[in-house]
Amino acid sequence: NRTQLENILRRIDGRGYKAYKDIQGSYDFGNFILRIDHVQGDPFASPSRIRVVVPQKVAGFPQELYSSKPRKKGLEDFLTRQISKNIARIVKGNRGTGKSGQISVISVGQEILNRTSVLVADSSVEARLTMGLPARGRTVLAGQAMEMFFGELPRLVEQSLVYKNLDNAALLRHVNLAEDQWVLRNKIKEMGLVAFIANGSILPRRSGVDDRPMESGAVPFKSPPELEVMVELPHAGKVWGMGIPKGITLIVGGGYHGKSTLLRAIERGVYDHIPGDGRELVVTVEDAVKIRAEDGRRVEKVDISPFINNLPNGESTRSFSTENASGSTSQAANIMEALEIGTSLLLIDEDTSATNFMIRDARMQKLVHKDSEPITPFIDRVEDLYEQLGVSTIIVVGGSGDYFDVAHRVIMMEQYVPKDVTAKAKEIAQEYRTDRKKEGGGQPIRVTHRIPIPHSLSLKGREKIKSRGLDNIQYGHTNLVLDDVEQLVDINQTRAIGDIIRYAMENYMDGKTTLREIIQRVYRDIEEKGLDVISPFEGLHPGDYAQPRPQEIGAAINRLRILKVKQ
Ligand code: ADP
Ligand code: MG
Repeated sequence: NRTQLENILRRIDGRGYKAYKDIQGSYDFGNFILRIDHVQGDPFASPSRIRVVVPQKVAGFPQELYSSKPRKKGLEDFLTRQISKNIARIVKGNRGTGKSGQISVISVGQEILNRTSVLVADSSVEARLTMGLPARGRTVLAGQAMEMFFGELPRLVEQSLVYKNLDNAALLRHVNLAEDQWVLRNKIKEMGLVAFIANGSILPRRSGVDDRPMESGAVPFKSPPELEVMVELPHAGKVWGMGIPKGITLIVGGGYHGKSTLLRAIERGVYDHIPGDGRELVVTVEDAVKIRAEDGRRVEKVDISPFINNLPNGESTRSFSTENASGSTSQAANIMEALEIGTSLLLIDEDTSATNFMIRDARMQKLVHKDSEPITPFIDRVEDLYEQLGVSTIIVVGGSGDYFDVAHRVIMMEQYVPKDVTAKAKEIAQEYRTDRKKEGGGQPIRVTHRIPIPHSLSLKGREKIKSRGLDNIQYGHTNLVLDDVEQLVDINQTRAIGDIIRYAMENYMDGKTTLREIIQRVYRDIEEKGLDVISPFEGLHPGDYAQPRPQEIGAAINRLRILKVKQ
């Protein structure tokens, strides 16, 4: 029990830092169990990993707050945020050298994600924290440690993980909202929609590096009457908003009128958002993928022939590899890889597309003969994607009316307000024929399933996988860059991806299983056993993951410069 911890701390006071190793173990604090899973080696190393387990008879969370997956996710998300807020209030912080005095929980953003920081079950509530054990120089400061363990920690637990001490109304709102978003995402599918943006939503963000809602002057979203639909949700009740049906949708409008902002909100609609975010009821089918040009990326044996053929060097594009893709080949590869992992909606913004991939107008067709142009532009394939594979597309275009011919609907942004201009655009398309010839298209789009070769990814000796921030994973000696994977939103997702690759390698890469199947199997394990399974510290302390989608896991593997596959 806690007296034992007290005794050890007294005994090691003033000794070298390594003496802290003696406190590893479990202690009964009466209201909760403290488990000290891993003790850091020195005051500057990654802080020590601890867990607190509060039995439900103390914590007292009503079952209906975690009675379904989305509700449980909402509750755990709320509790993680509660811990985070209370740390700022309760924990003194610096108590000596290096990380001495810190207590932390996983970082959170605007999304409600499945995380490993808090776990609610019928028997108990468990939180995973880290703690910088205090030292002066390299000398144990037991007195400071005792203030943390016996002062700060019990208060933190009491005020974050005990139901009666929480703002129950806010908690219920959070849980209900998580459930509403889950229901809404299912309902739009039944309604034949790929995205829904509720009236009143606030789409613009504070800045390019601050994902919170714009503070003042934001124009609330309002659906045009033609696209307005009503959805009934279990908690929010009847909600009206713009429903974007399956098919090909253009977002047009003058520069700076809010096109990209709308598309970005749709991109992020694959995730749930917290109350007050402004995008609480902006949802998109969960497998939507943002497609962009990404020149310089590596491509490993991807069949990009639906878009690119007859390269001047005679190289085949059915199994196309490069260390340094161009804008158009990278965009083609991004599409084919997204189809390979599985998607029903592509999202494309002209701002981040290769022009020659998107269009080739009548005049250019006359000057440069098709035989000397390897690219079949997206405009000639977008209908095939929908008709053959059922894959919808939403495209932002401000600069090319050629797309009017292929679009099922056209939404115009005008001073941040959407209008349905489909009829007008179709009329214009009739009146001003472009003489543009369709280039190819119609041929079947085949999606090739590639098989990763396990030893291409194996790590030797002391090589490690370590994520750095949102966009980088150090994979042994290879630096994996994820800057252009735009739907990766949380650094803890990036960390999870690093360990998922390792987990996939150890369990499912056998040189016979396709990439898609490997990711599906990892996913099944996560669904069945929880996100903890991907941790090398399973059963101990995997407290710092947030769940990525299969699409981002695939994106990461596809960008690993050492990856080798067979088709
Ligand atoms: P576009 O892609 O049409 O050029 P953007 O979507 O990039 O335009 O938006 C231009 C600017 O307008 C951005 O700074 C954005 O934050 C702001 N903005 C977008 N939507 C709104 C809105 N609904 N209310 C207020 N400002 C907005
Ligand atoms: Mg734009």
